[in-house]
Amino acid sequence: MNFEEAIKKLRAEKNAVILAHYYQTGDIQDIADFVGDSLALSQEASSINADIILFAGVKFMAETAKILSPNKKVLLPDLEAGCSLADSCKADDFEKFLTENPDRTVVTYVNTTAEIKALSDIICTSSNAIQIVESLPPDEKIIFAPDRNLGNFVVNKTGRDIIVWNGACHVHEEFSLEAILELRKANPDAKVIVHPECELPIRMIADFIGSTSALLQYSKTDSSDKYIVATEVGIIHQMKKANPNKVFIPVPPKDSTCGCSECNFMKLITLEKIYKCLDTETPEIKLDSDIIEKARKPIIRMLEISKKYGF
Ligand code: SF4
Repeated sequence: MNFEEAIKKLRAEKNAVILAHYYQTGDIQDIADFVGDSLALSQEASSINADIILFAGVKFMAETAKILSPNKKVLLPDLEAGCSLADSCKADDFEKFLTENPDRTVVTYVNTTAEIKALSDIICTSSNAIQIVESLPPDEKIIFAPDRNLGNFVVNKTGRDIIVWNGACHVHEEFSLEAILELRKANPDAKVIVHPECELPIRMIADFIGSTSALLQYSKTDSSDKYIVATEVGIIHQMKKANPNKVFIPVPPKDSTCGCSECNFMKLITLEKIYKCLDTETPEIKLDSDIIEKARKPIIRMLEISKKYGF
């Protein structure tokens, strides 16, 4: 079966849209109505005009779409598509942590479950974490969760009073510093571009640090011809499309047998699963209305701040 054609037909019949994250495989990115990072996908999900949103990404992203469009049917082709970072912050543990550290504004990265969002004051993404924190009054005490590397990056950039939750993404924590140094030696003309979820030693040798969309944008505007890329390998599809004459070298993980530079959760989604999901309209994301209401407020607050300050 030609899944691309079958998906296009079903999508039109059912008035559905397909949102895909940059970490999906190239064939999925190419068939999507909209491709973006977490911030762009949240913005898109909040204003979408369709009966069905099919999310080619991981569960917390589909949940965010459901929270922003509660009256729409939101589908995720594989419910096992989770996230090690979201898993590193469980609601019971986080509630206890908030009780132990009271009177702080809770800034939470979008890579969390709906329950964690419901416990938060404001959501951020890696595209806007610094600006969201800087939009708060200078003396405001903050909790940042769940990514310790992004959290420490924000602390270093803003100098704010922030307690950081100790969570991490297994993909971004596994990049090998030694491999980057070797690649740089072999490619002295290449720039090292790094996601802020990477560990400090990797960030310290970066020529540029930014969210997935910021790295893509940098590859378009920077004058170099070659880049060593330390984030999930899926983004290289868009980088090559935007810069056909440039070279992009993915950084391997520390343990070359683990294949961690690919997010195994993201790669659970396939064209065949998208087709079956659109055909049967399952699996569907269902959330408690109380959680939707509570989780919606901090996401809307982020979107409003982003709009106000233009980021
Ligand atoms: S790359 Fe990391 S943060 Fe992103 S979905 Fe995969 S496990 Fe989660």
